[in-house]
Amino acid sequence: MSTPFISPRPGIMDIDPYVPGAGAIGEKKDIIKLSSNEGAFGPSPKALAALADCAQSMNRYPDGSASALTAAIGKRFGLDPKRIVCGAGSDEILSLLAYSYAGPGDEVLYTEHGFLMYPIAAKAAGATPIAAGETDLTTDVDKLLASVTDKTKIVFLANPNNPTGTYIASAELQRLRAGLPVNVLLVIDAAYAEFVSRDDYTPGFEMVDQGNNTVMTRTFSKIFALGGLRLGWAYMPAEIADVINRVRGPFNVSSVAQAAGIATLEDMEFFNKSREHNIEWVEKTQNALRDIGIETTNSVGNFVLARFNGENGKTAEAADKFLRDNSIIVRQMNAYGLAECLRISIGRADEMQACIDALGRFMKS
Ligand SMILES: *Cc1c(COP(=O)(O)O)cnc(C)c1O
Repeated sequence: MSTPFISPRPGIMDIDPYVPGAGAIGEKKDIIKLSSNEGAFGPSPKALAALADCAQSMNRYPDGSASALTAAIGKRFGLDPKRIVCGAGSDEILSLLAYSYAGPGDEVLYTEHGFLMYPIAAKAAGATPIAAGETDLTTDVDKLLASVTDKTKIVFLANPNNPTGTYIASAELQRLRAGLPVNVLLVIDAAYAEFVSRDDYTPGFEMVDQGNNTVMTRTFSKIFALGGLRLGWAYMPAEIADVINRVRGPFNVSSVAQAAGIATLEDMEFFNKSREHNIEWVEKTQNALRDIGIETTNSVGNFVLARFNGENGKTAEAADKFLRDNSIIVRQMNAYGLAECLRISIGRADEMQACIDALGRFMKS
């Protein structure tokens, strides 16, 4: 006789598991992986050295409050370390915020093509995710505000957004905050902040300081190129830091991640090289795609959103297959409701050129 099925809490089985960017094409070697917005150049050499050093004491538990790391982040960004909380990726912090501030009967708001972790975190907490419409693949503050009800507890907003690459200016972000009820937590997910070079952009530091209901999350997975180590952080009001520090695992960030994070922050040469390379190649890639008849948004992240109009069979699906046949992996966008699009992360120059050339051949085929 089989044992009974033990049911999880209501809502858990409604979660569509997150599908990460593919990392392989069968047995193929020499793959060009442009599917997860990772660092183009591998990790910082300083991070590798710090990691090797720290590995010697891997038998020891990490510093549970990550004090050296929060001090280093505080110094770099001019923030009070006591209001910085680190996590195993910023994904963990997003989940902890959802668990702590929303539950059954509550609504968690995000944008139509927002990062998929938001509905997952909301459902895992037992809350109901609500998607507000966008305009031209860009956050629409009015539509977000119109979607607020007395059940809304959290608004998750990626700015810039993944996968659209678009952003809203600081005045719009302020208008959103001002229009939300004071008891609604606004989480500004600025995972791509370091790539943005626009005068009207803010990652949101000052908005956190303005009140006690706004949090900004950041990651070491994108420009700092430590996705595999799992390291993220958030800047928040002291009261919220107190809450998250109660619910997080006491050793949620590994010792090696802390050491590599500190070393990466010190490597300005790596940072500047990554940033300049990205600015150059987002522009080059978007221009090249537009030249061959593929539309793109104006991305400020480390990726490009390419839209295929489907004429003459030139669909995103066909393009994806063509790229795979050429050993190039990009990200399909069906889960984001953008089946006509592919998201292409910025890799090394040779990888980008190979991808652009392959898409050129595809469009002519
Ligand atoms: C990549 C990404 C993250 C970061 O995830 P980590 O858990 O820190 O690796 C967060 N938000 C968005 C929008 C992202 O694209």
